[in-house]
Order: sequence, then structure tokens, then C-alpha cells
Amino acid sequence: MTPTDDQLLERAAAVAERAYAPYSVYLVGAAVLARDGRVFEGVNVENAVYPLGVCAEKTAIAKAVSEGCRPGDLEAIAITASPCGGCRQWLHEFRLDRVVFPNTRGERVSYAPAELLPETWELPQP
Ligand SMILES: [Zn+2]
Repeated sequence: MTPTDDQLLERAAAVAERAYAPYSVYLVGAAVLARDGRVFEGVNVENAVYPLGVCAEKTAIAKAVSEGCRPGDLEAIAITASPCGGCRQWLHEFRLDRVVFPNTRGERVSYAPAELLPETWELPQP
């Protein structure tokens, strides 16, 4: 059964407990729903060299890609935090329909990637 956005966000919150975030202790989880019904989860993974850490939504999308998904194959993603600027570019590239996360007031919000990153950069085609 296809999970609702609320259920996807619940899965993201549950998986956040497995985040590797010894430096910030800021645990983030993400769950991405593929159009074929599969769900891929991800967490933030930090590193002692801080810039090398990766965000939860990136690990969830990378997991989906490693299982065969490509841009257009992913329907929605739920994240336990607002996606950072770099991740918004990833969300745009993978052409998700919906990005769901709690806003600063704790309300669940849903945006299209274009709303999160208008006038998005794209690699010019030859
Ligand atoms: Zn990010």
C-alpha cells in the first residue's frame, strides 16, 4: 500500500534515530517514495572533516539510485527538517512531485522542488 505523506514523514522520523551525527547531534531522517511503491530511507552521515558530511535526503536519493531509480522515478520525499540549499538542487534534479517536511512552527508543509528553488540552475544542453 502506498504510504501517505504523513506515513512517509513518520518513517523519516523513525529512521532519523539511526543518523550518524556525533558532531552536531542533529539527527535527520528522510524517506523517499518511488513511483513503483518502493520506499528508500536515509539519514545524515557526518564526518570529522565537517564539509564531507551528507544530508539525509541525499542518502535516501542515493540509495534509490543505487537500486535503479533515475530522475522522474521518485514521487515524494519526507524529511524531518527543511532541506538545505544543496539538497534543493538534488530534489530539482530528481524531479520529485512533492517535498514534505515540518516547518519552523512544526506544521507539515509540502512544496514542489521548483517552489523551493526557483530559477534553478541546469546544465546547458549542447
Ligand atoms: Zn542538505
